[in-house]
Amino acid sequence: MKITCISVFQIDLPLEHPYWLSGGRLKFEVLDATLVKVETDAGITGWGEGTPWGHTYVPAHGPGIRAGIETMAPFVMGLDPRRVLDVERAMDLALPGHLYAKSPIDMACWDIAGQAAGMTIADLMGGGSRTPRPIASSVGAKTVDETRAVIDRYRQRGYIAHSVKIGGDVERDIARVRDVESIRQPGEIMLYDVNRGWTRQQALRVMSACEDLNVMFEQPGETIDDIAAIAGKHASPVSVDEALVTLQDAARIARDGIAEIFGIKLNRVGGLTKAARMRDVALAHGIDMFVMATGGSVLADTEALHLAATIPDANCHAVWACQDMLTVDIAGGRGPRNVDGHLHLPETPGLGVHPDEDMLGNPTAVYT
Ligand code: MG
Repeated sequence: MKITCISVFQIDLPLEHPYWLSGGRLKFEVLDATLVKVETDAGITGWGEGTPWGHTYVPAHGPGIRAGIETMAPFVMGLDPRRVLDVERAMDLALPGHLYAKSPIDMACWDIAGQAAGMTIADLMGGGSRTPRPIASSVGAKTVDETRAVIDRYRQRGYIAHSVKIGGDVERDIARVRDVESIRQPGEIMLYDVNRGWTRQQALRVMSACEDLNVMFEQPGETIDDIAAIAGKHASPVSVDEALVTLQDAARIARDGIAEIFGIKLNRVGGLTKAARMRDVALAHGIDMFVMATGGSVLADTEALHLAATIPDANCHAVWACQDMLTVDIAGGRGPRNVDGHLHLPETPGLGVHPDEDMLGNPTAVYT
């Protein structure tokens, strides 16, 4: 089987509510999504998606994905998409780094491989759990009252897991964490996501003040060095996501005990092929995981769900459904959707959901 054509589509995905990153930074309202259709000489078509969480969040942006694909397309054309390692190496040779540009092609190849094998991606990767995965909300709010309101909105949709965005103001962060913990319901999973919004002293002050609450913080500093520097000075379990980019990052964090949880972002780390290695490093070191896209439609959510399904149930805390934050649905209601706060693995071979191509308009580029 050979890749014969790669078509690239751009679509804006508006957010239902304007979003502020931790500490009220970086408001934005629309995600720039890139959808990739990979066609083969066997008549099997695979789809991939790369949607950064805005252009100001991490070093990734929509036009960069499309430019990267333009550079890589000649190198992957003609390869067998089922041989995902061949495709990975071709992309890495054609364009070192730029992992976020590679994940849509990697995703489409896994979709094709699954369809060809008659298996879901998760099963093709070795075996997918059918235990529904809790969806973590994304609570981008500023005040105690707003935080309660957003959590309530998600609870009404059945959510039991919440990623509460904090960072930037020590007193307000302590107040918000303590308030959310005071209303935490039995069985709820709470993660306090700093999104790099603390300096080291801010991190230690908030984490120390919340020590009695026994809660988890995500990305409490800008870099792995920052998180490592405070690791021995507080008692809270820490998740690393934005600073978890390469397999070398994963190995260092695991070996040096810098974090207890990986937040694996599929687009950030370059797709399923690379993310699966991080999963294995995590499992070998007693590290639990959250798995998510960096943003996007039901396609991106489903890609993450497949990886999450290959993690033992006890070690996979939650996934994300960015689709629930959008006003546009490019798949007409198909694919995994929120059911009582959980996503269920689709049983259709491959990814299990494709977009409604009519909604995508004309491709911005076609490579043959
Ligand atoms: Mg995070």
